[in-house]
Amino acid sequence: MKKENCIFCKIANGEIPSRTIYEDETFRVILDLNPATRGHALILPKEHADSLYDLPENTAAAVLPLAKKLASIMSRKLGCDGLNLIQNNGETAGQTVPHFHLHMIPRYGNDGQKISWTPGKPTEKELDEVREQLAE
Ligand code: 5GP
Ligand code: ZN
Repeated sequence: MKKENCIFCKIANGEIPSRTIYEDETFRVILDLNPATRGHALILPKEHADSLYDLPENTAAAVLPLAKKLASIMSRKLGCDGLNLIQNNGETAGQTVPHFHLHMIPRYGNDGQKISWTPGKPTEKELDEVREQLAE
């Protein structure tokens, strides 16, 4: 299903042109308009899902194999030294377009980008509490 007024639905389904680097029945992969680095791409499912939470299982299962395939292509054709996969869910997490997408950000030794967080310093007790809360 497509969602009305969703820009990534329109792009993924070809209603709005994009710089597509890969397409199949399930996905379109496009160049980000404001790339973090040269070759920054977005894997977009053609079916609308707001985020990972409502992404169908079969689409979720297909995303990483596709990312792996594109990772090899990026490495070979762009000569990048590394690659970040980033996937934001929810505004709090930095998601600005509410249609699931996986960022593929090729990294180069001199790219000047920083994708990082401040490491926390929890106590052993705090870690134990979180483990207990999350463990199924
Ligand atoms: P988010 O912050 O939601 O994880 O990432 C959204 C990404 O989509 C951003 O990196 C932004 O540059 C990119 N973006 C937003 N609108 C468009 C668009 O119309 N076309 C393309 N190619 N990228 C877009
Ligand atoms: Zn959409």
